[in-house]
This record gives sequence, structure tokens and C-alpha cells, in this order.
Amino acid sequence: MECTQLIGSSFRVAPQPRLPIRSEQVWFGDGTIVLETEMVQFKVYQGTLAANSPIFHAMFSACQEDGSDMIENCPVIHLHDTAVDLMHFLQAMHILGYAIGSFTRPHFDILASSPSYYDCKTTDDFNKIAGILRLSTKYDVEHLRRRTFEQLAFLYPTTLEQWDQRVEDAIKVFEARPFVVVKLARETGHLSLLPAAMYLCATRADINHVLDGAPCPDGYTIELDWEDKRACLHGRETLASAVRTRLFKFITGTIEIHGHCTSAPHCEIAKYRTVRRLEVALSHTTPAVFSTARFTWPNYRQDVCKNCAASAEAHFDSERVRLWEELPSFFGLPSWEDLRKADDLVLTTRSDISPK
Ligand SMILES: [Zn+2]
Repeated sequence: MECTQLIGSSFRVAPQPRLPIRSEQVWFGDGTIVLETEMVQFKVYQGTLAANSPIFHAMFSACQEDGSDMIENCPVIHLHDTAVDLMHFLQAMHILGYAIGSFTRPHFDILASSPSYYDCKTTDDFNKIAGILRLSTKYDVEHLRRRTFEQLAFLYPTTLEQWDQRVEDAIKVFEARPFVVVKLARETGHLSLLPAAMYLCATRADINHVLDGAPCPDGYTIELDWEDKRACLHGRETLASAVRTRLFKFITGTIEIHGHCTSAPHCEIAKYRTVRRLEVALSHTTPAVFSTARFTWPNYRQDVCKNCAASAEAHFDSERVRLWEELPSFFGLPSWEDLRKADDLVLTTRSDISPK
């Protein structure tokens, strides 16, 4: 190819074709295959990938038949993933870590260890977890898919008991995180992550981020699809109403008092005062229906009679459970049971479409 062209009376240097670069993180000198995406090459072990992934197994078989580019006597396979995702995924596939120790029942004393690249107990890098989930689903690597999915499911669970135990910063926190999880759940088919992630988008995120996109730490903005934006806005409205008319019905309306109210005028005044405080609180924030410890029960118990307090708490707890069961429907999603079934089908479906 000519490097220069005569343009008018001057020479202009034609742009050089961009050459692929080798990954700094994933280049095993004695590797047997080179994977290339986004102009980045990764030299890894074909047998390791084929043994763990039916998709790679089929891909390599096809490659042997049709011939390919070669680098250092290794065939080059061109993929369409992001280089960052592939870098995380390939390291998780090849750097497994170990622990050597001695059993002194009931303990296992670790004498030497080396960390694996991905450990569901210690890895808190969201991009690493998301990248490995994305590609382990695509390439049907079950052990990685299950571990990364379960780590995310701890933060975006399907039961209220799990929700009450979640630790927000178990994975690095950033404002757009629930938005990224919505997109990731859609992309990989792990739909049971959606209700909790959409609940957080709808109730904790700035409304402008729902409408126009939320900023990520890497400088990009992540924007939900229109259908999910609409679902978030619809869910936000429904939850705002449910907080007043259902969760706090013991002060905004009338509930059955077990036994009977033993101090009716006093209790009514206390409820009136509480509902005013609730309205002020709700005017400044979105309805965090499932956040615990937002309502000051010790104060309320002091303000009303024993029977009113007990009935209110029983109502609150049972309504909270009912609202959680209905949560998927607030966002136009199938029931929890159907969402869990959809997760179970992710790998089955992938295996069905995989070339054998
Ligand atoms: Zn009372």
C-alpha cells in the first residue's frame, strides 16, 4: 500500500493501518491459540477453553477445518467482545489460585495460598464481575456464570429475607450500578436480578438519571432502554402510592386493631402527628419501601396504646411482605417464580443453541 499521496502541491502522509497489540495481562508464551478483539490479542490455551466451554470447543473445531490467520504457529480467532471483558474472562479461566494446608479437624490450616483472579468472596470490582458473567454466559462456562451471578444476586435478590441481609458495599458502589445491572440482566437473560435493580433505579436514583442516563465512573453514561425507563417511572408512581395507602395505612387510614384501642383520643392525635411527619419525609425523598429502620418504631410505641402499636407493626410487616411479592408486577415483569425459572433456563437455552 502506498504511504503517501500527492494532494494539490503538497504530500500528505497516509494514515498507517492500525496493528493489533498484545494484551499485557493475558499472553502466555507457550499458549496454543490467539484470540483477538478490538485490536487486542490474547494468547491462551486452547485445551483449557475447549474443556470448559462447548462454545469454544465448537469454534476451535470449525477453525481447524477452514484455516485461519496464524501468529507464532497459533491460529488467530476473531471475537466480537470488548477487550476489557475478554481480559477479565480469560484471566478468570486461567488463573485459578490454590490453597495448601493441613487438616487439624475441624480446621484447615492454610500454609500457602495464591489468590485466584476471580473469587466470589473477595472480588469487589464490579466491572470484573460483570465482564466474567457476560462472557461466561455467552461461552457457556457454567462454574463462572453461576458464581458471578450468585454474587450479584446477593445484592439484587429475589426474597425479602435476602434483601434485609444485603450489604450495599459488598461490591464497589457507584451511582449508576443498578442501571448497569438492569442492562446486564437483560443482556445475559438473568432476569431475576431485574426487580431489585429496577426498584433501586426507581426509588434511589435521581429522576434525571432515569430519564437521560446515569454517569459511570469511567466517564460513560449508561441509559436504560425506553421500555425500562417507562417501567421505572411506572414503578416509582406505584410504590409512592403503596407507601401511603398500604404500608402506612395504620396512620393514613384505618386498620383492624387487635383487642381494642385503649386510649382512642390520645392515639388518634399521635397518628395525626405521625402522618404529618411521614408526609414531610416523603416530600423530600422517594419511597424506600423496603429500607428497614426508616420508621421510628420505638417512638411510635410510646405515642400510642399497646394494642394500636402491636396491630400497626403486624400490619406493616405483613404488607411489606405482600409488596415484595408484588414488586416484579410494579415494573411489568413476570412473577418471582417465573423469573427464577427464566434464570434456570439461561444455560439450558444456550446449550440448545450451541453447535455440537
Ligand atoms: Zn390505641
